[in-house]
Amino acid sequence: MSETFDYIVVGAGSAGCPVANRLSENPKNRVLLLEAGPKDRNIWIHIPIGYYRTMTSALSWGYNTEPDEGIAGRSLIWPRGKVLGGSSAINGLVYMRGQRQDYDHWRQLGNAGWGYDDLLPFFRKSEDQERGGDEFHGVGGPLQVSDIRDRREICDAFIEAAVESGIPRNDDFNGAEQEGVGQFQTTSANGRRCSAATGYLKPIRNRANLRIETGAMVLGLLFEGTRASGIHYSQNGQEKAARANAEIILSGGAINSPQLLQLSGVGPADHLRALGIDVVHDSPGVGRDLQDHYQARLVLELNRPLSVNDDVHNPLRLAWTALRYALFRRGPMTFSAGHVGVFTRVLPESATPDAQVHFIPFSATKLGGALHPYSGVTASVCQLRPESRGEIMIASKDPFAHPKILPNYLSTDYDRRIMVEGLKMARRITQSPAFDKYVATEREPGDAVVDDEALLAYAREKGNTIFHPTSTCRMGNDPHAVVDERLRVRGIQGLRVADCSIMPTVVSGNTNAPAIMIGEKCAAMVLEDAGGR
Ligand SMILES: Cc1cc2nc3c(=O)[nH]c(=O)nc-3n(C[C@H](O)[C@H](O)[C@H](O)COP(=O)(O)OP(=O)(O)OC[C@H]3O[C@@H](n4cnc5c(N)ncnc54)[C@H](O)[C@@H]3O)c2cc1C
Repeated sequence: MSETFDYIVVGAGSAGCPVANRLSENPKNRVLLLEAGPKDRNIWIHIPIGYYRTMTSALSWGYNTEPDEGIAGRSLIWPRGKVLGGSSAINGLVYMRGQRQDYDHWRQLGNAGWGYDDLLPFFRKSEDQERGGDEFHGVGGPLQVSDIRDRREICDAFIEAAVESGIPRNDDFNGAEQEGVGQFQTTSANGRRCSAATGYLKPIRNRANLRIETGAMVLGLLFEGTRASGIHYSQNGQEKAARANAEIILSGGAINSPQLLQLSGVGPADHLRALGIDVVHDSPGVGRDLQDHYQARLVLELNRPLSVNDDVHNPLRLAWTALRYALFRRGPMTFSAGHVGVFTRVLPESATPDAQVHFIPFSATKLGGALHPYSGVTASVCQLRPESRGEIMIASKDPFAHPKILPNYLSTDYDRRIMVEGLKMARRITQSPAFDKYVATEREPGDAVVDDEALLAYAREKGNTIFHPTSTCRMGNDPHAVVDERLRVRGIQGLRVADCSIMPTVVSGNTNAPAIMIGEKCAAMVLEDAGGR
């Protein structure tokens, strides 16, 4: 027994929520949205600093990468949201679109309709910008975007120091130019997170033609020949099926979308056959071309108590932090994973920024770990357009088994050069007079780590993901491309992919706003292809 809908959307994450919202705007369209995770009731989802807890909780899929040669044989934890809102419910809230040139590059690769001028309307449509609308920003859209609600002396010092070291000031990274230093904006309003579920699902959850199922893990696609006709899923220990009259949209994210395609027989034929999976379509690019942003950090100990570490370790200040949030929705509990951002060029040949810095007024032992006992702050550097490519491949037919993730970080000379030059650039900022006067010592990597070789070894041994995997179901028109420029899966009918996996190349910045834009654009194309329905 199975129910029939017009559209089935798999995954209620950054891209899936806008797809489901826009497709169900017309009451004639019956839409089913399936999410493997629970409803977003956990309070820490909605308090911004809560990402620090949730990213390593049961609200994450908790992936681990394979041991990776480029990072000293280490494997990393890769958090991914498993809850309504997907990764937008557990992410660091930084609102960033990337560079105009990223999208113009996508268009030049043969993807008509994906240049910056084509996509700006979708960014604007999705946005509710606290500062008001202009040619780059929208108001009244589902995604609330606002300024950081707290200025801290040490953050202002970092901005001043960057300016001293020759980086221009920029108060809007998503405006005319990305290059420069300034405060990030965040996906939040009045001190509360705005996830894709908060923005796109909450206001419309009672639409009669939209069914949202949580705890519904999609196990595979059903086909009639090469037409995707439905899905089967597991919910409360029961196996169920649903059929789609019109289309299925996969929005499972950069790990799960290629995994689901592979499990369903769409992927590298040899690999699937070796696992005993019947091949529906040989698509060698599924799971390949994986990109991610890799970060290495400077940790500085301050010579005065200006860090959030000081607020947390002092009982009185901690109580005030909680009270401030309860009363005014301000203070450290509203903090995102980046306060001050820097976008700059560290290689002479780069035409646009090739490195990004996230500066935060606290420091911790590890990802989601305890804050250092001293007054610490962190400046982490990542390369914006890595050349390294990895892959995600299933290792068994079991849909509940995690696929193998091999990022291949720092596997090209270009990537290694930017990492090293990026660390030097961040150090130049922290050693500029405006910031240096606050520094007691550089704890990591430390004063002894100076030459290129030592800096690279440090990056390999201590660096981490910045949580931006993309491009595993890449859009394009070459033999490895998985979807075409209308996000239709090549070789299959009735199936599209809409999430970070379709990016031809990772954007030069954080990936949540681009994923939401992809959801908006996908829905518009689906409706257009259905004759405006
Ligand atoms: C810890 C962390 C911090 C980050 N910080 C930032 C930041 O500050 N700024 C920023 O811009 N970006 C940030 N990112 C990245 C950004 O959030 C993601 O790139 C973006 O949310 C991905 O969107 P998506 O639609 O591709 O996938 P997701 O949002 O991950 O959505 C996929 C959804 O599909 C569901 N799903 C998967 N498989 C199945 C299945 N088989 N059946 C049913 N449902 C399924 C998942 O549970 C999930 O809800 C961060 C990410 C993480 C994890």
